[in-house]
Amino acid sequence: MDTVQQWLQDQARQLGIALSERQLEQFELYYRLLVEWNEKMNLTGITEREAVYEKHFYDSLTVSLAADLQGDSALADIGSGAGFPAYPLKIAFPQLKITIVDALAKRIRFLEEVASALQLDGVVCLHGRAEDVARLPEHRDRYDVVTARAVARLAGLNELCLPFARSGGVFVAMKGSDLTDELSESRFSLNKLNAGLREVKKLELPIERSERHLVVIDKKGPTPKAYPRKAGVPLKSPLLGS
Ligand code: SAH
Repeated sequence: MDTVQQWLQDQARQLGIALSERQLEQFELYYRLLVEWNEKMNLTGITEREAVYEKHFYDSLTVSLAADLQGDSALADIGSGAGFPAYPLKIAFPQLKITIVDALAKRIRFLEEVASALQLDGVVCLHGRAEDVARLPEHRDRYDVVTARAVARLAGLNELCLPFARSGGVFVAMKGSDLTDELSESRFSLNKLNAGLREVKKLELPIERSERHLVVIDKKGPTPKAYPRKAGVPLKSPLLGS
C-alpha cells in the first residue's frame, strides 16, 4: 500500500468506512482504467492520481454521511458519467445493489468494463435518459437511495432523480460551494414531486479544502403521474412555479 492508498484508507475511516487491502486494490484498478480510457474518450478533467483519489473517490464516499448504505439497499446513480459517486460507494459497500443511468453510450461501455475488471456484482448500467428510464415500472418509485453529482441545477435535477426514489427513500444531491439560489429555486419542484428537504450537510475536501454540500431530500410518497415530463423538458424548463 502506498501513501495515496493509505491516505484514502485514513480518510475513509474518518467517514466510518473500513477499507480492506482488496478494496484499495479495486480503487487503484479503477484509477488506472479511468486514466487509460480517458485518453480515448472524455471521462474526467482530473487525472492526477492524488486528485482523483480526493475529488472523485473520497468525495463520492461522503454520500455515506447522508444515507444508510449498510446492507443490500438499492441505489440509483443518475448521470453517473465515469461512475461518480456510484462506483466508489459500491467498492466501499459491496452489498449495495447499484443501478447507473447515463445518456451517453460510450460512458456506459466504460462503466461496464470497470464493473467486470473490478469484479463488482449487483451492478446494472443503463444507457438512457433518466426521464425515460423513470417511466419503467421496474425503476420507478423503487430505490432506497438516489444520488447525482454534477448533473444539473437542483430544480431540474429533482425531476430527473426523485421519480426513482421509493416513498421513504432518500435523494442525495452532491453540490459544490454556492447553493443558496439553487435551494430556494428548488422548493416548487420538491412539492410537485412529493418530496421535502431534510437537511443540507456542509463539507470540505480534506486537502484542497474546497466546499461541498450534500442536499438530502426525503421522498414522501409516489411520483405523480405527470412526472418526469418528456426527455429534455425537465432541464430546459425546470419546475420553478411562478
Ligand atoms: N456524476 C459524474 C458525471 C457528471 S457529468 C461526476 O460527478 O463526475 C453529467 C453526466 O450526466 C454526463 O455523463 C451525462 O451524459 C449525464 N446526463 C445528463 N443528462 C442526463 C439525463 N437526462 N439522463 C441521464 N444522464 C444524463
